[in-house]
Amino acid sequence: MLTKSEYDLVIIGAGCAGLSLAHRLVGKNYKVCILESSADINLKNKLWSFWDTYETPYDHIIKKEWESLVIKNKNSLVNINCKKYKYKSLDSHVFNNFILNLIDKNDNINFISSSKVKSLSTNKSEVIVKTKDHELKCKHVFDSRPENIKVSMWQQFFGAYVESEEDIFDDEKPMFMEFSGIEDKFHFIYLLPFSKREALIESTYFSQEKEDQYLDKKYIEEYVKENYSQSNFKIRKTEYGSIPMDANIKNSSTKSITKIGSFSGATRASTGYTFINIQKQVDNIINHLPDIISKRRKIKKNYHSYILRKMDEVFLKIVNEEPRQMKNALIKLFSSNNNDAQIRFLSDIPSIIDIVKIILLLPKKIFLKYSFIKIVKK
Ligand SMILES: Cc1cc2nc3c(=O)[nH]c(=O)nc-3n(C[C@H](O)[C@H](O)[C@H](O)COP(=O)(O)OP(=O)(O)OC[C@H]3O[C@@H](n4cnc5c(N)ncnc54)[C@H](O)[C@@H]3O)c2cc1C
Repeated sequence: MLTKSEYDLVIIGAGCAGLSLAHRLVGKNYKVCILESSADINLKNKLWSFWDTYETPYDHIIKKEWESLVIKNKNSLVNINCKKYKYKSLDSHVFNNFILNLIDKNDNINFISSSKVKSLSTNKSEVIVKTKDHELKCKHVFDSRPENIKVSMWQQFFGAYVESEEDIFDDEKPMFMEFSGIEDKFHFIYLLPFSKREALIESTYFSQEKEDQYLDKKYIEEYVKENYSQSNFKIRKTEYGSIPMDANIKNSSTKSITKIGSFSGATRASTGYTFINIQKQVDNIINHLPDIISKRRKIKKNYHSYILRKMDEVFLKIVNEEPRQMKNALIKLFSSNNNDAQIRFLSDIPSIIDIVKIILLLPKKIFLKYSFIKIVKK
């Protein structure tokens, strides 16, 4: 039987964006419904990491933070100093449970799982959201569903939480990127040590095609055996996924439906970092909510500035066409003693001086060449 109900706001998707927005709406004077297609949002693991460049309400549930990172290519090893902007990791299960618990204790938000949104229709004053069992009328929809669009580059990864019986990891030094011997690909290992005995080890690709070579448990097991031969270890859980890396993903929001999350352009094309942008996005929505509901304000179409999008486009072309050059360029970029400018650049808050510094550190010939070459989407 179809259940009909009315809300002020409907949020589609209880992922990072949907729950971050719901968190800000807890206890507010809006009647909200979250519709989530999966039966259990904790079935998948995600660890969100980011530099601490923006204040979020999640500092008390951070899993671990670090003051430096390492980047490695063959014999070059570079330290990234993040004393000013600490590198932090947050477990999605802890985040989900924290917010679901708050929602549970307040009556203004209703959470309905196993409810896949099938259609949205709008008329002058309301939006009608339909699932198999529900028909909801509301004033405004926040939609975090993925979009079926052609993406020019994916960041794909497979990660394993490795537990060792011996002390094998340096828990003060995460490996931001350790480029593998696979020369013709932009492939690297990302290793976050939570203690001397436990780490998340991820095999990561940037590529136009969806690939699964090197993205499995076996690859991680081989990596651990090769690098920590004395260790007796087991894999406790895994996480995997693909992040759309496209400088030109446009936000398709309308006056009644605001797109949020990864597919609204919150993902930074050159890095895949999204978590902090989602926090900025939902804070911006909350600050303008009355205007958004009354249709006087639409969220802007491009989330990142023109110059960052242009630089990311060039970066992705080089990653695709000449991965070896990009690996060398990154080692050079992080070789300076003070990495604050690079971190601000990767975290979307560079000053003009930061951008000039970055351009001076990059190999100019190759960046100029790819500034004028058009990438062909397959
Ligand atoms: C494994 C993994 C690790 C990542 N690590 C980082 C990181 O370290 N740092 C960082 O900044 N970013 C990271 N990201 C990128 C980004 O932060 C995440 O992808 C983030 O979860 C995006 O949030 P979202 O709400 O846009 O999408 P999602 O979290 O995917 O949420 C979308 C939700 O919508 C639901 N849904 C889909 N269709 C429907 C429908 N028709 N009806 C109802 N519900 C629907 C889905 O079930 C899902 O719950 C990572 C991504 C992955 C996959």
